[in-house]
Amino acid sequence: MSYINCARCISCGQEIEALPQLTLCPHCGGLLDVVYDYPRISARFNRGVLANRVRRDMWRYAELLPVEQAPAGGLAVGDTPLYDMPRLAEEIGIAKLYIKDEGLNPTASMKDRASAMAVVKALEGGYDVIACSSTGNAASSLAGNAAAAGLKTYIFVPERAPQGKLTQLLLYGARVFAVRGDYQQTFRLSAEAIEQYGWYNRNAAINPYLLEGKKTVALEIAEQLQWQVPDYVAVAVGDGCTIAGVYKGFADLLAVGIIDRIPRLLAVQAEGCCPINTAYREQRPLEAQPENTLADSIAVGWPRNPDKALAAIRDSRGLTIEVSDEQILAAMRLLGRSCGIFGEPAGVAALAGLVKARQQQLIPADATVVHIVTGNGLKDIANGIKAVGQPHYVEPKLKAVQDILDSIDT
Ligand SMILES: *Cc1c(COP(=O)(O)O)cnc(C)c1O
Ligand SMILES: [Zn+2]
Repeated sequence: MSYINCARCISCGQEIEALPQLTLCPHCGGLLDVVYDYPRISARFNRGVLANRVRRDMWRYAELLPVEQAPAGGLAVGDTPLYDMPRLAEEIGIAKLYIKDEGLNPTASMKDRASAMAVVKALEGGYDVIACSSTGNAASSLAGNAAAAGLKTYIFVPERAPQGKLTQLLLYGARVFAVRGDYQQTFRLSAEAIEQYGWYNRNAAINPYLLEGKKTVALEIAEQLQWQVPDYVAVAVGDGCTIAGVYKGFADLLAVGIIDRIPRLLAVQAEGCCPINTAYREQRPLEAQPENTLADSIAVGWPRNPDKALAAIRDSRGLTIEVSDEQILAAMRLLGRSCGIFGEPAGVAALAGLVKARQQQLIPADATVVHIVTGNGLKDIANGIKAVGQPHYVEPKLKAVQDILDSIDT
């Protein structure tokens, strides 16, 4: 049984029926939000019910999701670890730091949560083809989750997409269009094709169900912390769906009375591409920016979900911060050597932001913080190598090893 009332436009407030394929508001073109019957949910969904539930993946939270029931089959999305990392916390200078490793999802990014949802809704609507455009991870996750469900995919990515992500797409059997243009042009082309051919639309923000999938990361974080919500959650922001999803997850739990407050969100963008943070701080409408950062997953010059992202920052009393590519590469090394976790550049951008926020005293030393590592670094080896440099090349002789040890371990 589903607990959805309707879909409501966040711009004009009109309510429409929550059909399996939803895109923008038919009245004004605004973004839609899925509206739940919280009183009915809270009557049968609480901490105790969850404690006795066996299912561990993202469908564990079915009552708060836009589905009739938890689907059978599919890839095992969610149930990623939340690590307590005291040494990294001490190094950064905060009381408590948890790392949520979303790189451990089936296609190695948090986008699996949205794509698994899109696949379920497409099947519900009787579609056999799904399409999207993406900076990379949304595409590869859609291709993988669709393959597991026997659906066909058409994918549009900017030509710049890292090799690892492109390879995933092709391996999962997607038909891939690598567009000679930036993400904005890629997005536009996909929208035209989807309209023309009638495919199920998994484009970021346009389809409101994606955010419902993404919010499960917040539900998991809250449950993994025994419902003691952290003070801050640090999130990298591109289109803005991730941060909006994190906010909605906590807001849902608050609405059904399972938690008592929403953490403050730390919205981190790249210095070379920060349209959402700029609009937030300067309190003016979104303006397009160049996509000038090596963190490809957040190189989004014209974000698709600014309204929900801005609301998430505002309503959580959040903070905005920008980081340079050098700071992102440094965060990759820091996370790797202190935690044994390999994040892609966008996956660690929020950690770079957290480091900076502490240095600038924007957040207090006694804070409890969760950093979401949104994607796995193995997808983007070129930038990994940029972060770490070269090994010690030696002749196959112990003396050569000794010489190196003498020079580095003094
Ligand atoms: C998509 C993505 C983000 C940003 O999410 P948005 O919804 O675009 O803001 C951050 N990190 C990684 C690894 C991503 O794939
Ligand atoms: Zn509207």
